[in-house]
Amino acid sequence: MFSNKDRSQFADLETPFYYYDLNLLQETLNSCTEAAKVYDFHVHYAMKANFNTTLLKKIRLAGLGADCVSGNEVKKALEMGFDAGKVVFAGVGKSDKEINESLDQDIFCFNVESIQELEVINELAAKKNKIAKVAIRINPNVDAHTHHNITTGLDENKFGINSWDLPACADTLKQCAQLEFIGIHFHIGSQITNLDVYKNLCIRVNEFSQWFEERGFVVKVLNVGGGLGIDYHHPEQQIPDFTAYFKIFNDFLEKRDNQEVHFELGRALVGQCSSLISKVLYVKNGKTKNFIILDAGMTELMRPALYQAYHQIENITKQDAAASVKYDVVGPICESTDCFGKEVLLQETQRGDLIALRSTGAYGEVMSSHYNLREELRFVFSE
Ligand SMILES: *Cc1c(COP(=O)(O)O)cnc(C)c1O
Repeated sequence: MFSNKDRSQFADLETPFYYYDLNLLQETLNSCTEAAKVYDFHVHYAMKANFNTTLLKKIRLAGLGADCVSGNEVKKALEMGFDAGKVVFAGVGKSDKEINESLDQDIFCFNVESIQELEVINELAAKKNKIAKVAIRINPNVDAHTHHNITTGLDENKFGINSWDLPACADTLKQCAQLEFIGIHFHIGSQITNLDVYKNLCIRVNEFSQWFEERGFVVKVLNVGGGLGIDYHHPEQQIPDFTAYFKIFNDFLEKRDNQEVHFELGRALVGQCSSLISKVLYVKNGKTKNFIILDAGMTELMRPALYQAYHQIENITKQDAAASVKYDVVGPICESTDCFGKEVLLQETQRGDLIALRSTGAYGEVMSSHYNLREELRFVFSE
């Protein structure tokens, strides 16, 4: 439900726009950092979830590091004032240019995803006479029990180094004079809501950590990635249970005294603080279906078209009435996948009504495009 103040503010604005609730973002950040502090855990923000400058400022002020997946994200994090000593760089396809620029910035660590990448970083670091800090991203073959398209930690996925390649990886690390091994890294998927998954991850992390120790490596950093999900079906339940999440790692990781535990959270921090607000252009009553056609489409919010993601849809104009009609809610883009929801039960809806797509803070704005030569995105921030 939106407040009457929000509703009257929205009524005067051009649509569609992303609405950000900065108060909620702040509360979520506070909840996360307080829960992490209990165990002295380090949290990095996974920038790819949302790199809106207004949000990044708040996230940096909360003291988080930055988890980047491209050279430009590294650059942006540093421009935004994130401490280079808290910037990590992951990704299966880091280009030479991206590696070189990150070496120049002395970032905290490269999360390395293949043996060939280790060799390339070593070579590029040698040319600069630098030592590159690296963590090995291991594919632990742990099922994240999430949507197929956002699973990353199974043997079939492209991410990380597989367990059978670890002996060769250890040899390469020993041969590469410009590399400093600092630890191991994992990220098994996104929108994980079953916390047992993280228990299984901890067990694998313990095994791999021991494996490296037995071969004479000092494993200083255990980076367990991110992936904590949010409740898309209950957008009012806004702050994820960070306490329960961190407790699992405290209970199940066999952390040594000299070890640090690092996290990379994206969606859980920013997912619930935003809604995409849109206006109904047309209502079409078909023979078997009723359609609501919005002025927002997959160009503003691609998740439903990309991986059938669910976003709660609300008619804000009629929010006090009872829902009584089922509609397919679609956008204006010339693609049949440009559909936000099928058979959605809503109040009887008319042209001009405002519709909110909830929980759009993560992987929303960042995936927007200009397909169909769509207009620039608009934003509204509320404090
Ligand atoms: C995307 C990503 C994350 C964050 O995932 P969320 O599901 O948004 O928490 C963390 N680490 C890496 C390496 C990633 O690619």
